[in-house]
Amino acid sequence: MTPPKFTNFREVIEELDRSGSALFVDKAGVESLVIRSPYSIQYIHSYAEDSAFFLGLAEGKLRGSKCTKKSCAQVYATPRGHCMVCGSPTVWIDLPTRGRLHSWTTCHFGSEAFLKETPYNLALVEFDGANSLLLARLKDCTESDCYVGMPVEARFDPKPKYSITDIWFVPSK
Ligand SMILES: [Zn+2]
Repeated sequence: MTPPKFTNFREVIEELDRSGSALFVDKAGVESLVIRSPYSIQYIHSYAEDSAFFLGLAEGKLRGSKCTKKSCAQVYATPRGHCMVCGSPTVWIDLPTRGRLHSWTTCHFGSEAFLKETPYNLALVEFDGANSLLLARLKDCTESDCYVGMPVEARFDPKPKYSITDIWFVPSK
């Protein structure tokens, strides 16, 4: 029995959920047999000098980094081991957990881990005293609620997974 044919790859994915195989017909008319097979990997990753950032999230703290050169003193909301302006080493600092919406995008499609949450907002958040922005999810609001400068505050996952998803932002009440 030949698997059913589709010209839309999303329909191919749906068919894989149903039967495990499908034929994808591309614009040139080429038919490709597509199958689903299990694949699993245990990826061991060291955060190395970024560790304090993720350990901080688990304690409900947002850590940035500050350039140690007094005449520079850049503050990074996305931590850096060394200053991007002058190259000096940085030290860890606590950032405020309240900030403002600098920019955002609403994602209607995402990687597998985020598909269940679509549509979701990704925000660039700015903080008083910081010279760079932090990219994180913005929850509890829709695309039409968002505006540049909107006050936001951090929320931390009570069950941290040591991932950037341990922090997200919501509109400030
Ligand atoms: Zn610097």
